[in-house]
Amino acid sequence: MLQIISPLNFLGTVYREIRQSLVDMGEMFDLLEQPAEVVDAPDAKALKVSGGEVVFDDVHFAYEPERPILNGLSVTVQAGQSLAIVGPTGSGKSTIGRLLFRFYDVESGALRIDGQDVRDVTQHSLHCAIGVVPQDTVLFNDSIYYNIAYGRPEASREEVEEAARAAEIHGFVQSLPKGYDTLVGERGLKLSGGEKQRVGIARTILKNPPILLLDEATSALDTRTEQEIQASLARMGQGRTVIMIAHRLSTVVEADQIIVLESGRVIERGTHAELLEQHDRYAGMWAVQRAAESGADAA
Ligand code: ADP
Repeated sequence: MLQIISPLNFLGTVYREIRQSLVDMGEMFDLLEQPAEVVDAPDAKALKVSGGEVVFDDVHFAYEPERPILNGLSVTVQAGQSLAIVGPTGSGKSTIGRLLFRFYDVESGALRIDGQDVRDVTQHSLHCAIGVVPQDTVLFNDSIYYNIAYGRPEASREEVEEAARAAEIHGFVQSLPKGYDTLVGERGLKLSGGEKQRVGIARTILKNPPILLLDEATSALDTRTEQEIQASLARMGQGRTVIMIAHRLSTVVEADQIIVLESGRVIERGTHAELLEQHDRYAGMWAVQRAAESGADAA
């Protein structure tokens, strides 16, 4: 009997892990369309995170051999600091996130977390260390409670509610007639973009990872909701290493370090103030965006 049960249990674990990763990555990486190219090294060890320093060391990467996407990316994010990645669509921002999660292996160079090459550690331990708040949080057709608790299924009720409080969605949930038992998703209550983001944040707070990968929502949230979500994300980032893929510059002002990508190369790097002083690409993007925003405000 045991011989039959154990492989099934094993498969169950693998299935749960895959499902967990799917949810973690959300739609950010269109995982379903991607081949599982990466396997654990036979002697892979669990990643040991001390502070959460992330190093991209001369990383070259291409999806297809004849079309390089990252051309020698080098950047260090010190433990507990934040990096914002900006640049035009197609410049390779999301690819950096995929490599961090080791959905693909680098062609040359290395990607290290606290000195450990991501190719030398188990993918499970890697995925446990990184929390993702994707552009669009995937909700299960289940209760709000289940959707938040998914971040750490063994969490207690108090911990789930605490995470919801930190993500500022507890009050909203409690105002619903069925509270945390409210069904959400396609067959339940439709949550707004901002509410879904908050469920995603609560889920990640519960998971409590040392490293955060944030893919800023491009979907239109109203300005106030966006500012509130930004504040929640900033609070969640305290004491963690944060890598943020930014589509709007207004959210990168506070980052410890900003890199501007173009065709897979870092063309500028610095803080917001430093980059403005350079009066170059970032400053230009900033001016264009400010003009667009004030135009939109006036409309
Ligand atoms: P960004 O996030 O800056 O918009 P991406 O990292 O998503 O850019 O994409 C960088 C480039 O890689 C784009 O030209 C995109 O078309 C290409 N690309 C992305 N994913 C794949 C893939 N799975 N296979 C082949 N090319 C891809």
